[in-house]
Amino acid sequence: MELNDNYTFDDYREVFHKILEEKKLNKTSERFNILREIFEIEGHFDADKLFQRLRSKKYTVSKTTIYKTLDLLESFQLIVKHHFGDKVALYEKCNTQHPHNHIFIENTEEIIEFHYDIPEQLIKTLEDKYKISISHHSLTLFGKKKNENQHKLSSTPITHE
Ligand SMILES: [Zn+2]
Repeated sequence: MELNDNYTFDDYREVFHKILEEKKLNKTSERFNILREIFEIEGHFDADKLFQRLRSKKYTVSKTTIYKTLDLLESFQLIVKHHFGDKVALYEKCNTQHPHNHIFIENTEEIIEFHYDIPEQLIKTLEDKYKISISHHSLTLFGKKKNENQHKLSSTPITHE
């Protein structure tokens, strides 16, 4: 079962439920509480933010359980894990409707999301070359914000001889 565009929490829960069953893993209420919380978070989050949110709702979940569940969800592609620079790992729920890529601005720690489809031909070439099947992709670009003065200088026309 795959998640469709605009999936609801029920769809999300059903997929997780099915996976746990297939893998013969316990369908604990803790795992489902974590899943619901993740579903409700907009954008990126780290394990600590998830832990705080659950605690504020009086759910007693250990950090260990959170990390284990995040790993589990990541391995089933229900969430995506990102490493931006030296920052702690950030997660987000999988977004079937708007798969996106990221630019991490190192000096301001901003994260910009952008949409760009990797050309089919490139995927096909890589699949053939390495004899693999590519399921999804996540592109992260790293950069630094230019300061305004530098920007003005570099935008003066350069004349070539
Ligand atoms: Zn993102």
